[in-house]
Amino acid sequence: MNTAVIVVAAGRGSRMGGEVPKQWQLLAGKPVLAHTLAAFAGMQVVLVIHPDDRARAEALGVPLVEGGATRDASVLAGLRALEWTGVRNVLIHDGARPLVSRSLIDRLVSALDSHAGAAPGLAVTDALWRGETGLVAGTTDRSGLYRAQTPQAFRFDAILAAHLAHPGRAADDVEVARAAGLDVAIVEGEESNLKLTFPGDFARAEAILRGRNMDVRMGNGYDVHAFCEGDHVWLCGVKVTHSRGLLGHSDADVGMHALTDAIYGALAEGDIGRHFPPSDPQWKGAASRNFLAHAMRLAADRGYRLGNCDVTLVCERPKIGPHALAMQKELARIMEVEPDRVSVKATTSERLGFTGREEGIAAIATATLVRS
Ligand code: MG
Repeated sequence: MNTAVIVVAAGRGSRMGGEVPKQWQLLAGKPVLAHTLAAFAGMQVVLVIHPDDRARAEALGVPLVEGGATRDASVLAGLRALEWTGVRNVLIHDGARPLVSRSLIDRLVSALDSHAGAAPGLAVTDALWRGETGLVAGTTDRSGLYRAQTPQAFRFDAILAAHLAHPGRAADDVEVARAAGLDVAIVEGEESNLKLTFPGDFARAEAILRGRNMDVRMGNGYDVHAFCEGDHVWLCGVKVTHSRGLLGHSDADVGMHALTDAIYGALAEGDIGRHFPPSDPQWKGAASRNFLAHAMRLAADRGYRLGNCDVTLVCERPKIGPHALAMQKELARIMEVEPDRVSVKATTSERLGFTGREEGIAAIATATLVRS
């Protein structure tokens, strides 16, 4: 492999507090280092650890190297482990930066085509002060200043030689590289590539992860039922008095069927007929709320909640307007969501087609499901 990664995780993280070093604390249910290593999935990785962490580190399933007393010594231990592997480039990364993106990694590796080193930096945009005993003692020109991040990328032989020649106590590997005369390109860093340093950083990192993992699904549903003899229809869970009834195997609630199919559709789970076959006599006359509740349970089992839904009933009569609010409330009650996530509206078809001739009622529905 051309490019290897050294993840440095031997520090004790004294600023974070807590019994466990920060790189081993849980972020969204997994150790920080598990997220960091996932960012480099598929690449050759060496993890530099503190000797006390060996037992928990073995669970991560990557080659381990024990670090030294200083960061420089730990990086050198990682470089030594890669020395005879034929690696051409190396990325050196802080274990406590779990949110580095693949695109930043790719841009750093590309920059090594034209430079011996490349590292992510963010231009300083805030004004800079010097402070003394809680008072502003002066301002500092921020032009040309950057906040340094990792991974820092280097040609392997050059950075190994630079570390061997360095007296130690460098702030980072860029300082080591520059001391050896290597040129290091600045690659645009990422605000999300934060280094977990203080307890509040965990909440920020979890919010970023939630945003990245958000999954939004959309489905649609369409249904038609024909009128028959009767004195009422069921629409969106509400019994509406009418001079006809609706023909159907269940209670023929055409609006609720369209909505249920929209939810199954968002889950790629077919339609009502797949889950409640009309050929099965046990569903004869069934209340359609059972179908809708089933679709919502299926969504919840997969970690989805309803974003919103919108049902349109298409008929000349009965008039839907007077019942629309009750329908909205009843659907929301069955789905166990706030009513403002549920829309019920109606239209006529200007006396055209089967709905215009009052032969039946049609309904269309859209639903979004959200998982985060
Ligand atoms: Mg139906």
